[in-house]
Amino acid sequence: MSTFFALAFLAIVAAAAAAWLVGPIALAAWRRSRIRRQPFPAAWREVLRRRMPAFARLPADLQLQVKKHIQVLVAEKPFIGCAGQVITDEVRVLVAAQAALLLLNRPAGYFRNLRQVLVYPGAFVVERSQGDELGLTRETRRALSGESWQQGQLLLSWDDVLAGAAEPNDGHNVVIHEFAHQLDQERGHANGSPWLGRRDGYARWQRVLSAEFAALQGQLARGEVPPVIHPYAATNPAEFFAVVSEHFFEQPAALAAAHPALFAEFARCYRTDPLAW
Ligand SMILES: [Zn+2]
Repeated sequence: MSTFFALAFLAIVAAAAAAWLVGPIALAAWRRSRIRRQPFPAAWREVLRRRMPAFARLPADLQLQVKKHIQVLVAEKPFIGCAGQVITDEVRVLVAAQAALLLLNRPAGYFRNLRQVLVYPGAFVVERSQGDELGLTRETRRALSGESWQQGQLLLSWDDVLAGAAEPNDGHNVVIHEFAHQLDQERGHANGSPWLGRRDGYARWQRVLSAEFAALQGQLARGEVPPVIHPYAATNPAEFFAVVSEHFFEQPAALAAAHPALFAEFARCYRTDPLAW
């Protein structure tokens, strides 16, 4: 009998430990599946129709994925208005819709480090001091359209969010850029190496991206104009990943033609092929 009680006790402890470990994940999954089952509000559909022409050209199954991702992102991520910016559903939906493009065909995961989205009416100024290699600290003042912080904040200019959504083919999209940084930052400091879904993909990813990054820097050093990739991508590997993400979603044909190996890596990373849209 005492053996029976010992076994029963062990079973209860094991069940409690499992619930403690799995509970929060299961609860989040349950909550998200409930959110995704809600009807998509007509007013939100109207925002997509008026503000995001790229949405209409998505295949129907991807439109559905984007709408469900919008519902979860709007429910889970706090949006905060800064410098007088008012947060409306239009702001939330337009930001979430463009961010959702980066989540297509992925297993669950909603920018897990992201705690707040801070929205400014227009370009905002940040002041920061940066130490250089000589130990000197330089103060810089720059007007930014967006910024992504390792600590979980993402800053956006609403003017630039609107402009990025209105013109889906120019290779500039601040939402795609900053949320790409968030994906990159999920694996520690941003270094252009986001989660790829499989461990054996990283060697090829590093090889292709390093070669393309070096080629871009070489072109700029020789005074040449890169055919597709914006020169800002040459800043560092993290910016290279974020800028090429913009081209991947907005100019897939040009990127695939000029950089086929790079395009193939991004198609594997993002699990989608915008050439087919
Ligand atoms: Zn950046």
